[in-house]
Amino acid sequence: ASRQFRHGEASEVKVNTPAGTVVFGEHHPLVVIAGPCSVENEEMIIETAQRVKASGAKFLRGGAYKPRTSPYSFQGHGESALELLAKAREATGLGIITEVMDAADLEIIAEFADIIQVGARNMQNFSLLKKVGAQGKPVFLKRGMAATIEDWLMAAEYILAAGNSNVILCERGIRTFDRQYTRNTLDLSAIPVLRDLTHLPIAIDPSHGTGWSNYVPSMSMAAIAAGCDSLMIEVHPNPKKALSDGPQSLTPQGFEQLMQELAVIGKAV
Ligand code: PEP
Ligand code: MN
Repeated sequence: ASRQFRHGEASEVKVNTPAGTVVFGEHHPLVVIAGPCSVENEEMIIETAQRVKASGAKFLRGGAYKPRTSPYSFQGHGESALELLAKAREATGLGIITEVMDAADLEIIAEFADIIQVGARNMQNFSLLKKVGAQGKPVFLKRGMAATIEDWLMAAEYILAAGNSNVILCERGIRTFDRQYTRNTLDLSAIPVLRDLTHLPIAIDPSHGTGWSNYVPSMSMAAIAAGCDSLMIEVHPNPKKALSDGPQSLTPQGFEQLMQELAVIGKAV
């Protein structure tokens, strides 16, 4: 993962979507990934996909297997949610990104996803990292909530060492001492630090990073100003009714407005 490994050059992660190849990397336009925390039903995922596509997103996110803190919270619809993501992909041309929690589901997820997400809670699940490294789909590796930069880069190294060079790093907030006003502390300093240390593309998730939709626009703009290559943003057609992460989800209108603001400030979207 070291930048020196590529003699100082950034790497690119090229992903094929039905609408064409999308490239993540330092010298490429910002890639926006948007969608609900969880795939809840057909209507909501298709509507969200159409709306975020119209606003300029290139990938649809949506959880089928959800890593919830409480076992009594909604756990995701599993395989049937993957089928719904496939319908949304076909309807819109968006690429699909969804999380793998268990290596037993990896094969089926890889059939449906254009990018496979490893979540914060599994960042140091080394056996899972080896397995996502041994399959061919690009990997979106979120930072563990108490992981150092070194821990995170070593987690990426597991995937690279297993033979998969298509890894995108995503900062999603770390645990600090204030949980009252923000869910996590979004570590934007990770962007320039990673830029020095690694050739891999860098994404920011301001939704999990702050926990509140009203803080997502300013953190998105700050992330772009700091040089990120990609944003992952949670969007739900009715955040108040969301089965997970409603408070941090933008409405489709809020997302559209944000995309217009982002286009003004930097890397073309
Ligand atoms: C998610 O993207 O919905 C998610 C669970 O993220 P994280 O692993 O960053 O908490
Ligand atoms: Mn979420």
